[in-house]
Amino acid sequence: MDVMFHSQPCDGRVRGAPQTLELLLAPPLSVHVEGGPPPSAMSSLLLFLASALLLHSVWTLDFRYHLNREIEQYLIQTSKSNPNITHLYSIGKSVRGQELWVLALGVNPQRHVVGIPEFKYVANMHGNEVLGRELMLHLVEHLVQGYQNQEASVLQLLRSTRIHILPSMNPDGFDDADTSCQYGQGRHNHNNVDLNRNFPDVFADPRRQQLSEDQREAEVRAVMRWLRNETFVLSANLHGGALVASYAYDNGKTGSLQMGGASLTPDDDVFIHLSKEYSHNHASMHLGNICQDSRPFQDGITNGYQWYPLAGGMQDYNYVWAQCLEVTLELSCCKFPPPDQLPRLWDDNRKSLLAYIRQVHLGVKGVVYDGAGAAAQNALVEVEGRKNVCPFRTNSHGEYYRLLLPGNYTFTVTYPDHEVLTQTLSVPYGPDGYSAATHNFRLRRTSAVATGRIQTCPTPGYNPAVNLEGGGASSSLTRLRHAVGFSLAALVRWVIE
Ligand SMILES: [Zn+2]
Repeated sequence: MDVMFHSQPCDGRVRGAPQTLELLLAPPLSVHVEGGPPPSAMSSLLLFLASALLLHSVWTLDFRYHLNREIEQYLIQTSKSNPNITHLYSIGKSVRGQELWVLALGVNPQRHVVGIPEFKYVANMHGNEVLGRELMLHLVEHLVQGYQNQEASVLQLLRSTRIHILPSMNPDGFDDADTSCQYGQGRHNHNNVDLNRNFPDVFADPRRQQLSEDQREAEVRAVMRWLRNETFVLSANLHGGALVASYAYDNGKTGSLQMGGASLTPDDDVFIHLSKEYSHNHASMHLGNICQDSRPFQDGITNGYQWYPLAGGMQDYNYVWAQCLEVTLELSCCKFPPPDQLPRLWDDNRKSLLAYIRQVHLGVKGVVYDGAGAAAQNALVEVEGRKNVCPFRTNSHGEYYRLLLPGNYTFTVTYPDHEVLTQTLSVPYGPDGYSAATHNFRLRRTSAVATGRIQTCPTPGYNPAVNLEGGGASSSLTRLRHAVGFSLAALVRWVIE
């Protein structure tokens, strides 16, 4: 959860008496130190037993909290044992030099394949919100074992999707975390910065000093590079401290239309669908009122801004600058649930985690070809009525992916020195068949004055005249309600942060 307050712990433990992390962890595993003395027969035996124990812990993946090095070992072992469907890579290092490991899963795990959408889960951005780390390990195990056992649904998922899993975006924070249900020890990175306030924000006040990318935190820079290197289509960001799926925008601009205090994206219908897909497949999130002292969330979902505004969040950055729809999933009332709850919490979330990935197959995908029949990079692919701050563009393969609910949509494709192409497409529901509809756009070169308009994405820090209204003027009542809501929210944030 992004807010740092809760008046009551949810698990009945005594407030203010957090257990130490080590109490919840298994005894440390023996490791062989490179360059040390040659092992004796006894130490060889101990090493063998330790290795067996390690393998056991890897392949049974017990329900407990794993140290960063144990997660690293698990990912290394899994990738070594399953090279045909997994690929382990690092997107960078934390402030204290820990690798930010990502495991990619799919039948072509090493690289992008045209037509196969890229999906990601990011967990443990707040170091003390720890359930997501363990859920990610169990999800990896589920997918790997499902593939080995030739389970049809897993086979279909891995053949149609490339899934990237970052179990911990903030391993340094995890090392500092206590086991409090609500307090924030370990939330920040090693520089005591909240990573979910450190991204560029399109709504940020332009009069305030903006950070350049190299001034941002190492973990944030790593994610920003990652988003440039892969064309992610759908994502979720796993937190704890509440039970709700919270969708963009997290921030807003005073004066824009914000229905009922919400800050709406042009893809609000899709975000609501995505969020409900998670909450209704979850054992209890959809009930909306599970956590004590939490406001009720209808259907277990909320617009992020409507819950409380935040600036510099990763979710808005994904959507605005990386054309990746990301939902923030708050997965446990307690930020550090007791380990004996882990089996149930995995059961509560397993179906949701899998169903959510399949939503990457909503809408339409395809390639834009230029007049010579070559893939057109950076062509604008826009949908009528959905004016994104940064227009969605084709990637280096000329591909576009557009998550849409079933219906008819008018697309406009714009590319320099080519005629603007407008086509209306009928979009079916893709997730059941593990594929979005495919439609390629073929452009015609024009000899007339270049028609490709130049529309650039605002640089981070620049505050454009963002029009969230989508047509229609807000009533004075709505404006007043918004103004009051904004002030109250700002006051709450001032009080708690
Ligand atoms: Zn959080």
